Amino acid sequence: MKAVVVGAGVAGAASAIALRRAGAEVTVVEAYEDPAGEVGSFLSLASNGLRALDALGCAQAVAGRGFEVPRQRMWGASGRLLGEVPRGRRADDPRNSVTLMRGHLVEELRAAALRAGAEIVTGRRFDPEAVPEGTDLVVGADGIRSAVRRALDPAAPAPRYAGLYSVSGVSEGVPRSAAAEPGTFNMTFARNGAFVHVVRPDGAVWWSAQVADAREPSDTGLERLAELYRSERVPVEVMRATTALHRPALHHVLAEVPRWQDGRTVLVGDAAHPVGAGQGASMAIEDAVVLGRALREETRAGRGDRGGGSAGGDGEGAVAAALARYDRERRARLTKMARVASANRDAKTAGPVGRRMNELIMPIVFRHFYERATGWLYADDLSRALG
Ligand SMILES: Cc1cc2nc3c(=O)[nH]c(=O)nc-3n(C[C@H](O)[C@H](O)[C@H](O)COP(=O)(O)OP(=O)(O)OC[C@H]3O[C@@H](n4cnc5c(N)ncnc54)[C@H](O)[C@@H]3O)c2cc1C
Repeated sequence: MKAVVVGAGVAGAASAIALRRAGAEVTVVEAYEDPAGEVGSFLSLASNGLRALDALGCAQAVAGRGFEVPRQRMWGASGRLLGEVPRGRRADDPRNSVTLMRGHLVEELRAAALRAGAEIVTGRRFDPEAVPEGTDLVVGADGIRSAVRRALDPAAPAPRYAGLYSVSGVSEGVPRSAAAEPGTFNMTFARNGAFVHVVRPDGAVWWSAQVADAREPSDTGLERLAELYRSERVPVEVMRATTALHRPALHHVLAEVPRWQDGRTVLVGDAAHPVGAGQGASMAIEDAVVLGRALREETRAGRGDRGGGSAGGDGEGAVAAALARYDRERRARLTKMARVASANRDAKTAGPVGRRMNELIMPIVFRHFYERATGWLYADDLSRALG
């Protein structure tokens, strides 16, 4: 069975490994040469994403490129601590979330895909209207502006600016009072958006200013940020010590995509559901594992497989059954995740009244309801999904 994966970001590289595990011949086509891609900042992998990486045999290598972050603290604009919760895991789960540069995650996944026998062609943009002859499966892992999604359904929703943009950077020599404790992910709900910062084991601080702005910004420089966060002491002190600044990223929202697959083509990762909210990469890795498992099981069941029940054959019926199964297995979880992402975005873009309400309500929510509200997310364990 021949599979083409479009895009070698998190979703594409992870899918290549999973499809190789299912026995497919895999070619990945990536438009850019540089694995850091469009978003050169850091991200966190939650326990569910790390367990999905276990299934791909990459969790250890990926964790080695980053550092563990056991807890998360939320702060109000006034500097008041609103709550402390376990970061990206249930309280009783010893597996800590891992924070690393997105580009390093992609590098590890691409290396694992190559070791697994996938071919990766970089510097070439794939045209979904010109799928090579003999292709049994096309995986659209081409991100939020997916051309594969448009080809699959010309009426599919298009992304729109979410009223939020991020600028992230690295700071060194941040005063101890602002840098906070290592192993803690800090989120400040500031007057003009959110401010995230986390201390690396070597003492450097990774930060990200997530600015609420109804219009796409024309100025995202440090001076402008200093002005926007001038009333909050910690963001100001962290940004004042900046030694490296990454390219800004606009956040986008996408309405629910009704069509994820058509029996030969399937969407994974941000192409299908850009959830962000500390879960975009974890969900993309889960997609890859569930897709690989569906393909392997449907191929074994020999559904319509003219190649004799092995993914080495052309397996048209097995692919169609696998894609329908992937859609069924992923849809409810991602729909729920999209609602959580939307609520998180609202908290970051709240106006002065909403922000004051949040400051009053959040401590109660974090203390009494957080575990119950997020437990479902971390309960899924795909670590053994690929045998
Ligand atoms: C500021 C920011 C912070 C984030 N923080 C987190 C976080 O903490 N935790 C988390 O889990 N997620 C986070 N996310 C989300 C996460 O980065 C994404 O969900 C994840 O990277 C999606 O991966 P993807 O492979 O689906 O898409 P992408 O990373 O967009 O990759 C798509 C790839 O396809 C390629 N491509 C596109 N079109 C074509 C074509 N026609 N032919 C060939 N190649 C093509 C692109 O070059 C790209 O490499 C964050 C996102 C942003 C913007």
